[in-house]
Amino acid sequence: MDKKLADDGPTTVTPWSVLLKKENGVTGRETLISSGEITTLEAIKKSGLCYDPRMRFHATLNEVDDHPEDPRRVLRVFDAIRKAGYVSNTPNPTDAFLRLPSREATLEELLRVHTPEMYEKITKTELMSREDLTNLEKISDSLYFNNESAFCARLACGSAIETCAAVVTGKVKNAFAVVRPPGHHAEPHKPGGFCLFNNVSVAARSMLQRFPEKVKRILILDWDVHHGNGTQMAFYDDPNVLYISLHRYEQGRFYPGTVYGRAENCGEGAGLGRTVNIPWPCSGMGDGDYIYAFQRVVMPIAYEFNPDLVIISSGFDAAAGDHIGQCLVTPPAYAHMTQMLMGLADGKVFASLEGGYSLDAISVSALAVAQSLIGVPPSRLHTVYASKHAVETVDMVTEIQSKFWRCMRPKFIPANPENAHVSRLHDIIRSYQAKKLFEDWKITNLPILRDSLSETFANQALCSHDFFQKDVLIILIHEAPLILGDGRKDSNALKPSDSYLVDPVSLYIEWAMQQNFGLIDINIPEVVTGENKPYDMVEETKKLCTYIWDNYIELASAKNIFFIASGKAVEGVINLIASRNVMKNVRCVVNFFGSESLTGLKTASEDDLPGWYFRHSLIFVKSTDECWKKPKKNKRRYGRLIQSEHDSGTSMLEHHYRAVTQYVSHLLKKNDAS
Ligand SMILES: [Zn+2]
Repeated sequence: MDKKLADDGPTTVTPWSVLLKKENGVTGRETLISSGEITTLEAIKKSGLCYDPRMRFHATLNEVDDHPEDPRRVLRVFDAIRKAGYVSNTPNPTDAFLRLPSREATLEELLRVHTPEMYEKITKTELMSREDLTNLEKISDSLYFNNESAFCARLACGSAIETCAAVVTGKVKNAFAVVRPPGHHAEPHKPGGFCLFNNVSVAARSMLQRFPEKVKRILILDWDVHHGNGTQMAFYDDPNVLYISLHRYEQGRFYPGTVYGRAENCGEGAGLGRTVNIPWPCSGMGDGDYIYAFQRVVMPIAYEFNPDLVIISSGFDAAAGDHIGQCLVTPPAYAHMTQMLMGLADGKVFASLEGGYSLDAISVSALAVAQSLIGVPPSRLHTVYASKHAVETVDMVTEIQSKFWRCMRPKFIPANPENAHVSRLHDIIRSYQAKKLFEDWKITNLPILRDSLSETFANQALCSHDFFQKDVLIILIHEAPLILGDGRKDSNALKPSDSYLVDPVSLYIEWAMQQNFGLIDINIPEVVTGENKPYDMVEETKKLCTYIWDNYIELASAKNIFFIASGKAVEGVINLIASRNVMKNVRCVVNFFGSESLTGLKTASEDDLPGWYFRHSLIFVKSTDECWKKPKKNKRRYGRLIQSEHDSGTSMLEHHYRAVTQYVSHLLKKNDAS
């Protein structure tokens, strides 16, 4: 678009004010746009690009060494943009990108982020012997040095500063610095992770100091697949710099290998709430996940923060094809994310290259970012669904960040059940249910007498008073019922008159009682009131199921046992089947997986248990589950699968009630006949 405007020459471009006058039929000299008018100059302003081939001088001592932070990275990125026709080797007025000059960062600039000792440490390498450099490399955290490293690091950092300044001063509308070595792992006092000086951090600090009137607040968005520990540290207590990072975390196992990038780390002091970590729990995160995080967390918070400048720490190691990042982000997703960020800060966006180790992947990804910067509409995305991991991570981040951002409400509930006047609704409901079930059907508490279990599950296991003598025994295992209500967004308050308890389990209880079956009803709480020790819902459910089997079910008279389980509780039943001899008396296992992903029996393949499970089960799985896309191997260990249009345990219980109860009746009739 800009390229065309430039080709035509500025004289042919009609000012917006003239166009507006024509459209409105106004011919007079009145002012239609009094302030902030877009001038012709603004309309044709270019994007900026900085690239200096000398940044390739920083290399491993032994040039045949294969290192992922390969000097060719910057060349390949520049070449991709050049071959697309947006920039030339020598400045060309028809290019979409204006080439911006490179320069070394000064000592004064570097000391805005780094300590003098760290500056010394890196500068010293210019005069070190080969042997000393090799030794230094050995004791450093993922770094290599030659005598050009310090120069390249200063050049990368200075170029980032100058390119960023060109955006702030309006010389260009936005810009991309194709620089190396990268910077976001470099902490104020130490380099690391292929990074020497923290280019983006020094640029951000420099803008705040050089242009205090223009730049009061900066958003640094870091989509490199690694956590930018250096950048987070540089601004951890700074209220004027919002650092948002999307990165593989995996409980701190992924590089940089600490828990510094966890979601709970939100800044400190005046900077509390100015760090937003979106920590992915695994590899394989893709377009749907990143776009989801952008739409749910990044952009709402960014709009609320309302920055004067956006800096992208633009690593491309989350790109599809990067063997270190092992994620699946495609070029169109990078283009969409760039375009979303361009809606902020009057479009003042500056992207600085960080990691990214597949030469092909960084080329196509960087080209996509460059295209968005010059105004090419992003290509359509193919994957638009977020994975379960992304939804869970984003939910967690939303809840944590809701303490600091209005747009993240209403997730954080400022109520403490340890206060005498505050009760968890879950406990009130379970007490009410226990009372009502006793009144209606004489259903009573099932004593759980093992120490750790008894505390956790008091009031959660109920039974019909005569279940011991019944021939048919129904065992319901489920999570707490749903409470539906339209909460007030500003206060989280639910109106009791407009809130409803949705408990399809009561349908099954009524049915079992009317049929004169024995019944055990187990509610699995998600949290336990008054418990201070960690509570693992799935593990406790497994223990509870085996406890009830050993102490009650196996000793009861029932020869026709049916399990009906939903949500996370299905894990308890599956574990029970694998660990106890259930084949004799259990007629059928009905599992509603709800929002959980399908899991199967873990048994030796020669076992006949998978075959039994397949013949004696109805396993309802949501239609969006991965299992419907690719057929599972050893299918029988997953049971007899039935596709459900519903995606929560509660709605599956409700909507498949008739099918399940009819199937149980059918099995019992068949049993009678034989
Ligand atoms: Zn990285």
